[in-house]
Amino acid sequence: MSALIIDGKAIAEKTLANAREETALLIKAGVHPGLAVVLVGEDPASQVYVKNKVEKARSCGIASFEHRLSAKTPETELLSLIHRLNQDNAIHGILVQLPLPPQISEQKVLAAIRPEKDVDGFHAENVGALQQGRQALTPCTPLGCLLLLKETLGQDLSGKHAIVIGRSNIVGKPMAALLLREHCAVTIVHSRVKNAAALSREADIVVAAVGRAGMVNADWVKPGATVIDVGINRITENGKNRLVGDVDFTSVSPVAAAITPVPGGVGPMTIACLMQNTVHAAKAIAGLP
Ligand code: NAD
Repeated sequence: MSALIIDGKAIAEKTLANAREETALLIKAGVHPGLAVVLVGEDPASQVYVKNKVEKARSCGIASFEHRLSAKTPETELLSLIHRLNQDNAIHGILVQLPLPPQISEQKVLAAIRPEKDVDGFHAENVGALQQGRQALTPCTPLGCLLLLKETLGQDLSGKHAIVIGRSNIVGKPMAALLLREHCAVTIVHSRVKNAAALSREADIVVAAVGRAGMVNADWVKPGATVIDVGINRITENGKNRLVGDVDFTSVSPVAAAITPVPGGVGPMTIACLMQNTVHAAKAIAGLP
């Protein structure tokens, strides 16, 4: 038996349709959701991400404002731009594309964004709210993974054993907090854990966010588990570049009950959740339910 392939593109389209509909309702109510995207430097991957985010926002009817700054921008200049965006009533979401050049402290920049406009969910106030199990602006990639899980397994994930492989601030840790909020039993493993594969074989849900091509093979997966592959790894095969995940799709798909592909799994959900977060931020700032 081969696993169900979770269609991230289709589920992302549903999330985007919802964001589009809510944006139209907000505009009718006199609030035009606005997203500011800030890019510092010319990192090619970041340029593609920013372009996609701006285009997706426009396709949802969200007003988008792009700020491209040179790689040499001093920290003070970026902080004063964030200050202006914080005050600007046309802006409901602020996203600063990471990574930042070395002269700029990522921590200072994230702390400067008004938490209500922090659509990436990286501000300590939003991180703390998530840890306390409260509703808050939540990082887009783990939020997207949760939506994929709920579409696949149903809304009630309570009591399931989930393992999160990776403990980064942008994926692993918020993913674990979200699954805990859904009443899962959550195990987190990382590079220092020796028996990660054995722990993973116990889990009903496996979320891999590592950055190592094909690391999670069939030995890591219990028959019938649901596998979410966050990894995006560029590899060269037979002289051609292609994207692969952290999960070895070929060996895992005959074992798992459901699995996300790369590309076409988590990736489209991340950007769709950014739109959802922007709409939620606009509603909350306008004091609408
Ligand atoms: P990161 O480098 O910040 O963190 C990787 C984590 O993996 C670390 O906690 C590390 O301890 C753990 N790890 C490393 N080797 C391990 C091992 N052998 N066993 C167990 N754990 C191990 O990476 P990140 O930012 O969390 O991203 C992870 C992957 O997800 C990357 O491939 C990244 O490109 C991808 N990503 C995808 C999206 C998306 O939208 N699909 C978004 C963010 C990140």
